[in-house]
This record gives sequence, C-alpha cells and structure tokens, in this order.
Amino acid sequence: MTDTALWWVRNDCRLHDNPVLRAAATADRLVPVYCFDPRLYGSQQYSEHDPFQYQKTGPHRAQFQRESVADVRATLREQNTNVLVRTGSPAEVLDELAASVDADRILTQRLPDPEALETEDAVRERVEPDTTVESRWIHTLYHIDDLPTPPADIDDTYTPFRKHVEANSAVRPTVEPPALPPLPADVGDDIAVGELPSLTDLDLSLSTPSADERAFLEFSGGETAAKQRVQEYIWEEDKLRAYKKTRNGLLGADYSSKLSAWLAAGCLSPRYIFEEVERYETERVANDSTYWLIFELIWRDFFQFQVAKYGGQFFARGGLQERDDIDWRDPSPEHNETVPSGALTAEQAFERWKRGETGIPFVDANMRELNTTGYLSNRGRQNVASFLVNNLRIDWRDGAAYFETQLVDYDPCSNYGNWAYIAGVGNDSRDRFFDIDWQANRYDAEAEYVTHWLPELNGLPPEHAHAPWTMTPDEQADYGVELGVDYPKPMVSLAASTDHLE
Ligand SMILES: Cc1cc2nc3c(=O)[nH]c(=O)nc-3n(C[C@H](O)[C@H](O)[C@H](O)COP(=O)(O)OP(=O)(O)OC[C@H]3O[C@@H](n4cnc5c(N)ncnc54)[C@H](O)[C@@H]3O)c2cc1C
Repeated sequence: MTDTALWWVRNDCRLHDNPVLRAAATADRLVPVYCFDPRLYGSQQYSEHDPFQYQKTGPHRAQFQRESVADVRATLREQNTNVLVRTGSPAEVLDELAASVDADRILTQRLPDPEALETEDAVRERVEPDTTVESRWIHTLYHIDDLPTPPADIDDTYTPFRKHVEANSAVRPTVEPPALPPLPADVGDDIAVGELPSLTDLDLSLSTPSADERAFLEFSGGETAAKQRVQEYIWEEDKLRAYKKTRNGLLGADYSSKLSAWLAAGCLSPRYIFEEVERYETERVANDSTYWLIFELIWRDFFQFQVAKYGGQFFARGGLQERDDIDWRDPSPEHNETVPSGALTAEQAFERWKRGETGIPFVDANMRELNTTGYLSNRGRQNVASFLVNNLRIDWRDGAAYFETQLVDYDPCSNYGNWAYIAGVGNDSRDRFFDIDWQANRYDAEAEYVTHWLPELNGLPPEHAHAPWTMTPDEQADYGVELGVDYPKPMVSLAASTDHLE
C-alpha cells in the first residue's frame, strides 16, 4: 500500500537536523506544506480569549518568515520537490489537502505553548480519522524525553535546573538531512503549489520593512542565511572565543551571536550550534566563552520546559507564582484611568514607551532600535522591560505583547519567560529591577549607543546625553538641544518612580 505523508512545516524551516522531516521522508509520497495562519497577522484577534488587541506578527518577523519559507522551497526544488504554501487556518488547510492527496499521515513539530498546542489539536480534530497526526519535539538542545525528570518535576530556578540536566542528560547527535521523494505528480497539475503571500496580503500595512542604515546586521530568513551566520560568527570572524566578554554589548553585529531569529523560526537547530561549538573547541579553543553560548542555549531550553510544565499559567497576569499583590496599571484605551492633573495615564505612558519618547535616552534608544530593526540586545531588552514594569508599573503582559509584535526572534516561551522574570512573577521570586541610570553609564559609558539611535542628542557630552534633563537652559542653548522641543522632557523621575520598590 502506498504511504502518503504531509510534512506540515511549522517552526522547523530546515533540512538539517530535522527528525520530523526524516520521519516524513520514509513515505512513498511526501507533500510538504506551510500555512500562513491569518490569525497571526494584521488586525485579527487570535482568539476571543486573547485579552490583547495587538497584531501578533509585525512586518519584521513576517518578512523573515516569508524568506524562511522561500529558502526551504528553493532547497527542496533542487530535489524535485517543493513546499506548498497556503494562507488559512492549519486545520482547514490540512484537512482539505489531506483529502486531496489521500494522506495517511501528517507529520509535524510539537511546540509547548498553549496556542501552538491548540492549533495542533484543532488539526487532529478536523482531519478524517484515517489520517493520523504525529508530532515530535525537535526544537530544544536537550530532548524533553531525555530530561532527568519529567517536565512537571523540573526545578523552577535556572541554576539547579541546568546543573541537574548537564549532570544527568546528554545532547543527542544531529541527524542528517534525508533523501526526499519527489513531489507527487498530481501536485502542481491538480493541486496548486501556491505563492508566498506578500506582507500586504497578510494584512500588514507595509509591503516590506524598510532597511535602515543604522542597523548592523540584516536578518534574512532561511536555513542558508542561518548557516552563513554561524560560519561568519564562529569561524570567519572568530568571535566565539570572546563571547562571554562581549555579550552584554549594545552596538555592532558581533557582540553576541545574533542567532535567535533563526533559532526561533527553526531555520537553525540548537544541536547544530552545539556541534559547531564542540568542533571549535577541538580545532581552536575551549574556554568560558565557548561554554557560555551553550549556557545561553540552556536558558532557552529552560523556558521551553517551563512552559511545558505550567502551560497557560506561565502567561497569566500573576505568572507561574500566581501573584496577586502587584497592582499593574492597565494601558488599554477602554480602561479610562483617572490620574492627577498633569500626570500621564497608563495608556499615554505606554504609547511613549512604545515610540521611544520617554525622555530617558537609554530607554528611547533601545525602543527605537527595536522598532526600526526588530532586534534588540539582551541588555536593552532587560532595561526597557524593567522600565515599563518597575518605573511605569504597567502590566508586564502588555510589554511582552508589544515585543511579540516587533521582535524578529519572538518566541513565546523566551519572551514571556523573560518578561515575567523581570516583572517578579516568573522563575525567580526576587524583583528584577534595573537601575537605568547605572546601566546606561556602565554599558554605554561614551553614550555611543544612545547617540547612534538618537541623533538629536549628537554632540552632547556623555553625562548629558544620558541625562539631558541635567542641562541648564544655557547649556541647552550651547549644545542646540532644547528639552521638550528637540528631545522630550523625562516622563518620570528615574529615582522617584521606583520608591514603591523599597
Ligand atoms: C524582556 C525579554 C524578552 C526576550 N524575548 C525573547 C524572544 O522572544 N526570543 C528570544 O529568542 N529571546 C528572547 N529574549 C532573550 C535574549 O534577549 C535573546 O535571545 C538574545 O538577545 C538574542 O540575541 P543573540 O542571539 O545574539 O543571543 P546570544 O547572547 O548570542 O545567545 C545565544 C542564544 O541563546 C538563547 N538565549 C540567550 N539569552 C536567552 C534568554 N535570556 N532567554 C532565552 N534564551 C536565551 C537565544 O536563543 C540566543 O540566540 C528576551 C529577553 C528579554 C530580557
């Protein structure tokens, strides 16, 4: 009997180290398919339960996804096959396609977050009972089945989790890309291969995100670009040997690996990076820095397994700690907050944070980089998140939802996990407050970063570039920067706005 399989490509846009594809490739007839789910783009709400009205995917990530699918398509074409592209809910698309090609199996990736699981369940419920849906966990460094304890029993604090896993588990070796059967003859004749939707088709107002010359790296989606970045960062630029020292940087292409977007879209397997690091350690040097990249990949794993453990609670207002003692301000327009005369409502404050117009240069520079490029350094993310939750006291989930729209490397577990951590409702009971003033002077001593993204502050000495409100009117006139005209006055006092933390 002929075995026909659909490979439902999700966040595994790659041929290397892809156990889902290997299993699918054993079929006699294989039809790869990628669905652009309209609920994830434009103005549609994901579900009626979704309290946030933000578009889930902004232009930076949508463009990256298009490129990732185009790249896998080009690679498959070299093997006489292809990836079908559809815009529609996966349940409807896969049901229809499975019926058209008489599929026995749908093979896909298992992701832990509730929305991804719901989507997978919807497919399982929708397709005919004689089509099975097989999902495999393939996106972490350590496999979920190789954890020393089931996810329900893992430690909620990173260090003991990491030590336990490192001592009692091993990273599985990568698997080779399989030989693929050609695309069945009826596909292409009777069944359309399908064109990639444009960003406008996806209800995004822009046709393409515009390139900005201030960006240091172009994030092009796809496995080809992902491997190129590994090659450049680790081998050609030889940056891995100093990663631990440079990773807190803010400016430039190479202070950190910048692999996150390819990892999130599954263009890159973390085990591939692991093996490249091992090879580098054998051929060049093994030191703290080479280990530290693995250490960070285990942070990524940690949040994936935490979501597998806590499910929806991980994303709730009180976080996995179920805290109800923090009075977060609600920035939604419907909230109608009353504030003393002259004070900003949460909605107004949130808008200024989003636009990078808080009047605190270190926050604004980071937000403008995020808005312009879709990427932000880890240090920058920590500071702007802390400012929103600790200084402005705005609901951490609104900040996380804004990042969800903007980030080219958005991943639900890493994003909400890091936000909850900083908000003090996640995997650490301590409040994670960042002293913005101290951070700015420590990590941007010469104010090169803030003036790169805030050219209006160019020419100010570092102490004023980080705190323009300290300039007298005469100094403002001398430097040609008038507060409230050329650059906003600070929306809050950094010191006074954290009194509640004491
Ligand atoms: C508020 C906030 C939101 C974040 N949202 C995301 C997100 O949506 N997607 C995302 O991939 N990362 C997120 N991070 C984690 C981290 O900032 C990025 O992974 C990192 O900046 C990406 O740059 P890089 O690839 O050069 O990282 P590197 O420093 O080179 O690290 C290598 C890899 O390790 C992983 N990693 C590093 N730090 C973390 C971390 N703290 N948590 C989880 N994984 C980590 C990433 O996969 C990263 O690509 C967030 C951090 C904060 C503070």
